Amino acid sequence: MAGIPAVSFPDQVRDYRLLMERWLDLVKANSSLQLSIYCEAGGYPLMVVESKDWDPLQPSIYLSAGIHGDEPAPVEGLIRWAEASLGNFPRRSIAQGWKEWNWQIFPCLNPWGLERNIRLDSEGLDLNRFYNSRRVPQINSQLSLMKGREYDMAITLHEDYDARGFYLYEVSSARPHWGESLCREISPVLPPDPRRKIDGHAAKNGLIRRKVNQTMMKGHPEAFLLHFLHADRTFTLETPSEEALPRRVRLQRKFLEVALKKVKLSMASPK
Ligand SMILES: [Zn+2]
Repeated sequence: MAGIPAVSFPDQVRDYRLLMERWLDLVKANSSLQLSIYCEAGGYPLMVVESKDWDPLQPSIYLSAGIHGDEPAPVEGLIRWAEASLGNFPRRSIAQGWKEWNWQIFPCLNPWGLERNIRLDSEGLDLNRFYNSRRVPQINSQLSLMKGREYDMAITLHEDYDARGFYLYEVSSARPHWGESLCREISPVLPPDPRRKIDGHAAKNGLIRRKVNQTMMKGHPEAFLLHFLHADRTFTLETPSEEALPRRVRLQRKFLEVALKKVKLSMASPK
C-alpha cells in the first residue's frame, strides 16, 4: 500500500534517518500537516509534525514517543498509526474526522538514544526529568512550541523492562475517566500487567490513576508538565520490553486508535 513502506524488525526501527523519511512522506501526503526541525540534539535533528492551522473548534491532540532511547516500540507504533491514519486519509480516518483535528506530534525525542539503544541522551541525562527546568536546550525548544497550547488529550508513549504486561498511567482532571475502558480495549493485543503495585503505585488491570502535584518529584516528567499546563487528559502507556517487538508495536498503535476514538465519541455526546 502506498505510503506504508515495509520496515523490518528489529534493525530498521532504530534507523532515525528512515524514520524521518517516513514522516516526511506522510506529511507530503497530507496538506494539512507540516514537519519542522525545531532543534538539534546529540547531532540529530529533532522533528515535530503539526497541523498548519490550529482550529479552536476542533479537538487538539499531543503525542510523543522515544524520549527514552531504549524504548523503540512507541516510536514505531506512532509512525505506523500515523501512516495508516493521517498519511493518505483512508476512508476510516476521514470518518473519524482526524484530518481536521489539531495535531502536535513529537515522533522521537531522543534519536541519539534510539540509534544506540540507550535510555539517556548524549549528555547522559534522563530527558524525562527536566520538564520543570531550563537546563536542557532541546526541552526548552520543545516547550516554546507548546506554549499556550491546550490539548484535549496528551499521550506519551513508553516501555518498561520490569513490566509484566502493558500498563497505563491516567492523570486527568476531566471526567469521566477513560483509563479502565482503554485498558480493556487494548488487552486482546497483549494482557495488562497483573501486579497490584507497579513502580510504587496502586494498580488494577494495568491502570494506575495518579494525582500529581508540583512538589512530589524534583525533576518533572513530560506528562506532569502536560497535566499542569496543557491537557485535561494525559496518558502514559508502557509496554513490556521483554515482549516481542512486533506485538509491542501493535499495542502502541492500538492504544492510539482507541484513545483517539474516545475523543471523537466524547465530542458527539453531551457533556
Ligand atoms: Zn520510558
